[in-house]
Amino acid sequence: MIACLERFVPENDIESKAAVEASIMCKTLDLQGSIDRTASADKDFGGLYSRRPLAVIRPSGADDVARVIKAASLSSTLTVAARGNGHSINGQAMVDRGLLINMRPTENNHFKEVKINGSTYVDVSGGALWEDVLKRCIEEYGLAPRSWTDYLSLTVGGTLSNAGVSGQAFRYGPQTANVAELEVVTGRGEVVVCSEKKNCELFFSVLGGLGQFGIITRARILVQSAPDMVRWIRVVYTEFDEFTRDAEFLVTRRGDGESFDYVEGFVFVNSDDPVNGWPSVPLDPDHGFDPAHLPRNADSVLYCLELGLHYNNSDHPSTIDTLVKRLLGWLRFIKKLKFQVDLSYVDFLLRVKRAEEHAKANGIWDSPHPWLNMFVAKSDIAEFDEAIFKKILKDGVGGPMLIYPLLRSKWDNRTSVMTPKEDVFYLVALLRFSPTGSNGAEVEKMVSQNRHIVDYCVQNGFDYKLYLPHYQTEEQWKEHFGGKWERFVERKACYDPMAILAPGQKIFERIR
Ligand code: FAD
Repeated sequence: MIACLERFVPENDIESKAAVEASIMCKTLDLQGSIDRTASADKDFGGLYSRRPLAVIRPSGADDVARVIKAASLSSTLTVAARGNGHSINGQAMVDRGLLINMRPTENNHFKEVKINGSTYVDVSGGALWEDVLKRCIEEYGLAPRSWTDYLSLTVGGTLSNAGVSGQAFRYGPQTANVAELEVVTGRGEVVVCSEKKNCELFFSVLGGLGQFGIITRARILVQSAPDMVRWIRVVYTEFDEFTRDAEFLVTRRGDGESFDYVEGFVFVNSDDPVNGWPSVPLDPDHGFDPAHLPRNADSVLYCLELGLHYNNSDHPSTIDTLVKRLLGWLRFIKKLKFQVDLSYVDFLLRVKRAEEHAKANGIWDSPHPWLNMFVAKSDIAEFDEAIFKKILKDGVGGPMLIYPLLRSKWDNRTSVMTPKEDVFYLVALLRFSPTGSNGAEVEKMVSQNRHIVDYCVQNGFDYKLYLPHYQTEEQWKEHFGGKWERFVERKACYDPMAILAPGQKIFERIR
């Protein structure tokens, strides 16, 4: 029937052809879930791109996802994008003239504790939000995943398609290193269960695979006993080398009680600017930041090490105080610029939710966010600070500028995630918020500053990789994957030979 209708559509009019194919497909698909041909879902958190899908599918589970992919593969043009919570920046979850599968309706399909060889896991849906995984794991089992992102309104499938990093990754690796098994619907429309032992090539392809090889419908996540409380601490540095020395010291310590459970850091502006400067540091609005404690020669930007120590209600307060004092005693921060609060583990993990509520009230949550995320090798980070933080970004980015070390030894080389070559590398995240009412020119200025920063890294031969990468050409993707490009292409040919999946990443063209 599709072939018959195609005769009435000019060969080169791909747009009309796709619309006809989608229309026929939607009428003939026998799904348990639903199809909406009017829903928009054409935006993401970045707010920089907009692509309207031909239809939005709300699947009931893996079988529906498989049916959609199989039907798309029988068409000559259709592509399929899974959408987690649409929190990408550069249209990665969008589809132009194709089908969008909204994974959120599948959120409750899986939730089960699994014990294997003395380890405990929880099976969760690819479309579940991490914040719901957290709440259910704690309420039902008193357990929690080990490795997180800073913000939890992201889906399991969305972060596992990238890496998923936060202040626990130095110890446990990214979220992709904390998964034992996946159920995936491949680009061939096959539902496959994979793990390190079973269908391992698919398993490692999909982890950090930018949605290119399959759609994650279930993930088995390693969990551990959840602590009751976190002591959340921020300490301030003026010197970058002291900040990095202490951060690296903490992330490379081994053994219980030898480091914090969470280590992150950020750069802030040495001024009273409410968003970029001193006021962004204290953890409690009642704690002021007294700049009189800063040395006179302090530079344009300052550094904050952010730390978290887990404990239980049954621990004696003096035990925690003593441990924190011992750990902080090794560090060289400005002693009078230390801020701390104690809060529940759940409130700690949901800390960005409060910032979201605040940003929503100010109207800046829905404005464009030209974010830049990258991994920069330890040997290049001091020059990055000198040239980029201290000069180009000396006035801030209107939001957090994160910087913290990670250890490559905790990342599995067999996954599709790309990192710098050195064992210690830094996550650098420029989380730009554009003021409400910003015009296109202002947003373009931020995008162009990002481009300038990346160009600087290229021109100076930095060992770096974009995290949450976005490129426009195959050449750029080849460069990104370097020696792993061929493996990536072979994996694509194996699991999604028609290049149907995740077209918003702009890596492969749909084979017609
Ligand atoms: P989407 O944006 O919907 O999708 C991302 C990509 O994954 C797309 O290509 C999509 O097709 C694909 N995809 C989605 N679901 C699936 C699935 N089930 N199977 C296969 N492919 C799928 N990242 C961190 O690592 N650490 C952080 O601390 C962090 N903080 C963030 C804070 C905010 C406020 C925001 C907006 C983003 C943050 N991110 C962070 C980035 C985030 O991890 C990625 O943008 C992630 O992709 C978003 O998840 P999502 O569910 O919204 O995915």
